[in-house]
Amino acid sequence: MTDLLHMRNNYLREFDARIVKSLESAVILDRTAFYPEGGGQVGDRGALSDGNTTIQVSDTRKVDDEVHHIVVGSIPNGFGPQVHGVLDWTWRYQCMRFHTAQHVLSRYLQLNLGLETVGNMVKPGESRADYRPIDHFTDEMKRSVEVGVNAILARNMKVEIRFMPRQEAMLFLKQAGYQMRYMEMVPESVTEFRVLIIGDFDASSCAGTHVANTQEVGMIQIGKNKNMGAGKQRIYFSLIDR
Ligand SMILES: [Zn+2]
Repeated sequence: MTDLLHMRNNYLREFDARIVKSLESAVILDRTAFYPEGGGQVGDRGALSDGNTTIQVSDTRKVDDEVHHIVVGSIPNGFGPQVHGVLDWTWRYQCMRFHTAQHVLSRYLQLNLGLETVGNMVKPGESRADYRPIDHFTDEMKRSVEVGVNAILARNMKVEIRFMPRQEAMLFLKQAGYQMRYMEMVPESVTEFRVLIIGDFDASSCAGTHVANTQEVGMIQIGKNKNMGAGKQRIYFSLIDR
């Protein structure tokens, strides 16, 4: 199993690793800081170099239990086995800002409009999340939610990652009144949870990458919304620097 360095350190941009398996257009490493697409967050991009040759990684995906670094073109003969990985930091840092923004937005909508988050897609440029139960999301509501969320982001809250045994994590989140839906869906075989805590505002189980402080997010801007039927609304949002 690949050691997922990004689970502990979201700011790791470079790392050394060893190729354990080469496929036609993907390599598997013994350790990686590349985030594989999952939990609504897109996969990382970047480059792998063995000192002589550099290959570009266009995407990172989880296939069964393996993290596949999808490469552009084919892997040159004799590439590796020791490599140095460098993330496309512009891409990844945007993902981190958007992911933290999504958690704050979701918690805000839970507290203020009683909405539950039922899906999300975190990616640079514009991200989205699905909420229910809600039939209309008016411009007036958008402006009001922006003001509320941006005031929370401006609070300079620390974003912390904590690993907890399953039962402790469930209890911790339940007592604080946070959304439990997804945690109950996690297979019993998972005994340790990665809990993301945003100051005194939010906590949830998440494997994604996040910024360390809410101020790094900047400000949220809500764009269009889409009626998904059955009381579900999809909300698109972008970020602007403060
Ligand atoms: Zn998350």
